[in-house]
Amino acid sequence: MNILIINSGSSSIKYQLIKMPSKKVICVGAIERIGSTDAISNYKTDANKVEKIYEIASHKAGLERITSLLLDAEIGVIDSTEDIDAIGHRVVHGGAYYTETTLIDEEVKSKIKKLSTLAPLHNPANLLGIVMAEEVFTTATQVVVFDTAYHGTVPVKAKKYALPNELYENDGIQAYGFHGTSHKYVSEIANEYLHKENTKLISIHLGNGCSITAIKDGKSMDHSMGFTPSNGLIMGTRSGDIDHSIIYYMVNTLGYSLDDVNELLNKKSGMLGLTGFNDLRDIEEEASNGNANCILALEMNAYRIRKYIGAYTATMNGLDAIIFTAGIGENSSLMRQLVCKDMDYFNFQLDDSKNDLRSKNVREVNTTDSKVKILVIPTNEELEIAKQVYELLH
Ligand code: AMP
Repeated sequence: MNILIINSGSSSIKYQLIKMPSKKVICVGAIERIGSTDAISNYKTDANKVEKIYEIASHKAGLERITSLLLDAEIGVIDSTEDIDAIGHRVVHGGAYYTETTLIDEEVKSKIKKLSTLAPLHNPANLLGIVMAEEVFTTATQVVVFDTAYHGTVPVKAKKYALPNELYENDGIQAYGFHGTSHKYVSEIANEYLHKENTKLISIHLGNGCSITAIKDGKSMDHSMGFTPSNGLIMGTRSGDIDHSIIYYMVNTLGYSLDDVNELLNKKSGMLGLTGFNDLRDIEEEASNGNANCILALEMNAYRIRKYIGAYTATMNGLDAIIFTAGIGENSSLMRQLVCKDMDYFNFQLDDSKNDLRSKNVREVNTTDSKVKILVIPTNEELEIAKQVYELLH
């Protein structure tokens, strides 16, 4: 079964064609800077790698470009659009409506549109990807995998805010949790690695967006992102947890508009606000040269993660393993070191030499006598989406 995975963002479309059940990746690609005269198209198969700049005015033009690459006589991988059996779309917010992988119909599309108010940066672009794919791949079954779906198992006591009940019951105000596809994927690999299903895990996804999830017996029990993906950990440009009264103070006393505050909290805060850089590689380099803001920002970032580890170990009453994943979690030995320092009370201890080894594989970076394992697991959201689409259609 040929499953095309589409992750349609505000100015990009990332895609992978995966053969299931063999999990063979046939091609990987992305179109970035859609809407500009110098959009970049990357396309890679086992035999070819092509990068080109085009004028790509719209998502429709982007998907047409992708289709022409897939069908290309020389470097293409399919003979006809009908060779695509199913398309798995990543959609960020499924709200309270969807906790399962779902076949797309008019009702689903209208709910995704309705939920755009909760994920204005993501849901409209995700929906555009669906509508375009329906036009181009008319015979493929269209399926959606929601980032929020995995967190459908979080108990009410963890997901409900202490606000008047009607806001939860009538208006859907609750913590939804995000990065579900990634947390599910890495936690399943961890359980395979540990040869156990009834585990207590903490999955730490550290990329451009960062989130941490408590997982018991394979189910999400709590999550650091809340009503929107801006809560919780310190991220590249997002503040994570703050006292909400700061917003009121900034508007009423400092003269910011609400839109300015929203923009500041989502796009100008986090590591960028603290250091002037949002890529952790730059921050680590600056810190190694003695930049005090960068040193402090790294410490603040790790401190916040450690607080959540403590909280989730308490709420699960135990811990078998912590998992580091995504761009920072997989690659930054320094961030892992800062997070795991002096955690012997929690029964985990990092092995510095294992931590410093670079690898693309699942690996254990704790000392041999550490009771709690410290795992580094490369995430693969596309493969997880392909697995879920395949399972739904079989
Ligand atoms: P992701 O969203 O998972 O693609 O993660 C992207 C982020 O990972 C980048 O913005 C960097 O901050 C971070 N990153 C990637 N490679 C490294 C590395 N070798 N060391 C530190 N941070 C890294």
